[in-house]
Amino acid sequence: MQLFLVNPSDISFGIAVITPRWLFVLAAATPARFGTPIIVDETLETLDVSRVKSGDIVGIGVHTGNALRGYEVGRACRAQGATVIYGGIHATLFPEEVLQHGQAHAVVKGDGDLVWGKALADAEAGHLQTMYDGGRVAGESFVPARWDLVERGRYMWASVQTVRGCPKHCSFCSVWRTDGQAPRMRNVDAVVTEIVELRRRGFRFIALADDNFYPVALKDLEQADRRADKSRLNELKEMRAERFELMRRLAKLPKDSVFFTQITMEAAEDPEFLDAMRNANIKGALVGVEAVTPDGLKDVYKDFNLAGDALANRLRTFKEHGVHVLGSFIFGLPSDRPATFDATAALAEAAQITFAQFVMLTPFPGTIDFEKWEKSHGENPPSVDGTPLTRHWLIPMSKRPKFYMPHPTMSHDEVRSRTQAVWDRFYSTGTIWARSKCISSLKGRLAFVLISKLYRQMYANTGIATDSARQSRARRMARLLVIPCRKLFAGKPMPDLQVPA
Ligand code: SF4
Repeated sequence: MQLFLVNPSDISFGIAVITPRWLFVLAAATPARFGTPIIVDETLETLDVSRVKSGDIVGIGVHTGNALRGYEVGRACRAQGATVIYGGIHATLFPEEVLQHGQAHAVVKGDGDLVWGKALADAEAGHLQTMYDGGRVAGESFVPARWDLVERGRYMWASVQTVRGCPKHCSFCSVWRTDGQAPRMRNVDAVVTEIVELRRRGFRFIALADDNFYPVALKDLEQADRRADKSRLNELKEMRAERFELMRRLAKLPKDSVFFTQITMEAAEDPEFLDAMRNANIKGALVGVEAVTPDGLKDVYKDFNLAGDALANRLRTFKEHGVHVLGSFIFGLPSDRPATFDATAALAEAAQITFAQFVMLTPFPGTIDFEKWEKSHGENPPSVDGTPLTRHWLIPMSKRPKFYMPHPTMSHDEVRSRTQAVWDRFYSTGTIWARSKCISSLKGRLAFVLISKLYRQMYANTGIATDSARQSRARRMARLLVIPCRKLFAGKPMPDLQVPA
């Protein structure tokens, strides 16, 4: 019996930007008697189904974006005689769909860290159940990844998780519902030990793949302090102290380490936290800006963000403290108008953010937006070749619409083409070169240009463009760009590096 773990993908680039962490975590959660799992990351290359034999077990992790490909892989593996087990966010939200479309033998909902071993043991004993629920595992039980299984030279960034869950409740995001609103923080020692292992293996760039690296804002402390009962305040203070402890330990790692994470904009009000990030070599963060107007922020339940000039100032604060921002913006909100696109592009420039992504509002399952949108279609939603739009992830890629949300004043195509224009403006060669001034050496600036171009090809032209020629050009270009980019990210293995005290 051979165990396979598959990360499905419709597009393979040969080299990927970030390691899909779950593959290596589940490999670590696999009891030793099942042998070493074969890891197949289809963002690198497609699974060769003929390798799967009768009696094998195949674990497939699906999120909404790759569910259709995941089902295809599962059906093909089942036809080979394998036992097929699904997990991941989408399987957690739609277990019945996974059983039906993916021909699953079993579905694992929630965190796989602990329950995966049980599902395997049951499969071995011949009494595999149809459904397992891993629930939300406590931080101290998060399983570290098996980095010995990562193929050398295939990924630019490794990924380590330090906290799951987010206390916010943005309408377009499912994290706070699937991972919960109570942050589950991982033990500092476990995080640092895993990072040291990665540096020993030559990974210098490491993504702290957290839902929200800044789970306790100063405002939360102030609110808790106003209560007569100080137990919540003490709990929050403890969590904050642990974040600082983690950053203090990261600061002791080699200075050329580069970490990247995701945080909320409130962190800009907290200079002590930003300085600790800089000292810890957390050099960049994805910040969900989403909208640049107060109405847009209300649309997404994110009115804890700022708008206009105050927003630009707030974003600049990150850079002033040495943290580069990858700003994430959403287009297609009900309050958006044609002028919003230019205003957003102008704000991104004025705020001096280093990278940006401009996504179109998409009703992802598990979100408030999805529920409202699904309900608005009633019993008979429109369909594409018999698949209701409210199950858009089941529509074949070539026929899948790019935008779903009704807009009061703009057509879908207008939102899409204006979004594409903002990508084109932000990532034009001239503006990238101007932004690259944040790096002093010529070599560094050229690397910045290359990486910016890669980012745009991978995420804009393959995702938003409807023109198939533009899409395939972008894929070809991305496959070419990933080769030099990976070299830029590679570090020298440091086999003797010790875990800092
Ligand atoms: S978008 Fe970010 S801040 Fe909002 S709920 Fe999701 S993870 Fe939390």
